[in-house]
Amino acid sequence: MSRIDYNLSDIRAIVFDIDGVLSPSTVPVDEEGRPSRMINVKDSFAIRLAISKGLKVAIISGATDPRMQEAYSRFGVTDIFMSRPDKKAVMLRWMADASLARHEVAYVGDDIPDIPAMTCAGLRVCPADAADDVKEASNYISRVPGGHGVARDLLEQILSAQDKWITEHNDYLW
Ligand SMILES: [Mg+2]
Repeated sequence: MSRIDYNLSDIRAIVFDIDGVLSPSTVPVDEEGRPSRMINVKDSFAIRLAISKGLKVAIISGATDPRMQEAYSRFGVTDIFMSRPDKKAVMLRWMADASLARHEVAYVGDDIPDIPAMTCAGLRVCPADAADDVKEASNYISRVPGGHGVARDLLEQILSAQDKWITEHNDYLW
């Protein structure tokens, strides 16, 4: 049973921010100043499964991180936009290219730079530790903080609502 007050059968595409969503808000930085973002393996499983079931997944980040790009490419994400501070412009172009209507798109963000892009999506989602303004702009606040399974929480509910969550043997393979 979904905890999201939205017709999840409509969702065809999900857009994720990285910092504070797929990776925690607090990022270790090494001696050279390089951040070490993290990947949640349960998120990654759900992202890979969602793509295999025909959902579109995109990642839009204001930052640049080749290691994250490579990792999410390996999970099957083809639309990864980095160093893109104007997330709304990226979002609108991506939606137009894929012929996606607002009500078919979910956006997951955690902080102020996400708000304009969020307004392009029918389903607006944030982690439990999102900024207050983002919580106010969201129609679903996940019970978990960024980097701790927000994507898993959302995708499990979307795929379940569409009868696509673990339906065949191949779904168990990783
Ligand atoms: Mg963020």
